[in-house]
Amino acid sequence: MVTLRVILAPLAMHLRRSVTVHRWTPVRKCSLAGCSYKLRHQLHPVWQSPLSVPGGRRQSPINITLRDSLHDPHLKPLKIRYDSNTCTQIWNNGYSFLVEFDDSTDKSTLSGGPLLNQYRLCQFHFHWGESNAVGSEHTIDGILFPAELHLVHWNASKYKSFEEAVMEGDGLAVVAVFLKIGKRHEGLQKLVDALPAVRHKDSVVEFTSFNPSCLLPTCLDYWTYSGSLTTPPLTESVAWIIKKKPVEVSHDQLAVFRSLLFTSADEEEQKSMVNNFRLQQPLMNRTVRSSFSPFLGSMEPQPQTEQ
Ligand SMILES: [Zn+2]
Repeated sequence: MVTLRVILAPLAMHLRRSVTVHRWTPVRKCSLAGCSYKLRHQLHPVWQSPLSVPGGRRQSPINITLRDSLHDPHLKPLKIRYDSNTCTQIWNNGYSFLVEFDDSTDKSTLSGGPLLNQYRLCQFHFHWGESNAVGSEHTIDGILFPAELHLVHWNASKYKSFEEAVMEGDGLAVVAVFLKIGKRHEGLQKLVDALPAVRHKDSVVEFTSFNPSCLLPTCLDYWTYSGSLTTPPLTESVAWIIKKKPVEVSHDQLAVFRSLLFTSADEEEQKSMVNNFRLQQPLMNRTVRSSFSPFLGSMEPQPQTEQ
């Protein structure tokens, strides 16, 4: 990774622009064909890179087994402090939609939990399925959820930029929240209402005064493990923090996610933005730690029924 960083860092710095422009991440070639859900024998373009570097030893996503996760009483509560004024825009990047934040200052940060440093929020996005039976990237004892939220933060205590942090083992921290079908989520609705404006790939719309804290469950319990990005460049730079309790959204709200398109307005064949999740990766020798004791309180993840 050092060699790759030396090559890519100057390029990353050159391409680093203001937050109003989309983030660029360096390309790490790898064997991608086995990474992605295959829909009708077609791979999404994001997974069609050339094959070269094999996968590493801390890839994501994974299945979390309750029996094998280890309660760590030293894990601290997460400290999440988001400022709605740092929210800037929504971007359909052709694989998901990214809600982007101004990360030039320490206004929206994550610390505590398993983290030794302070991390800045740069964007959040979701992964979801074509139906409620699939969608989440992580699973709990093999149970899938219809969607999964990822709040992406980078280590601003140690690194100068997201592009620098993404190449480092302690560079990123992603908070993941499962979505299940239930009652309408009032906090999410402002975002859902804005989505028709970014229906096509590469469309961007201004989106401000939004605090993503409203998308977090009230329960503080989480699992944590060391992993990777789940989209190329798949760098092994992520401290994953998976919230135990899902949040409820309505079927209609997820239907708006599914009305988005992978394709740009000028493409002949339009493709629905669904099944934008990576296949699960081997745990290897990693330990998943939990902030809570499995013997206290309800451990039952609630399975998702098809609607
Ligand atoms: Zn993600």
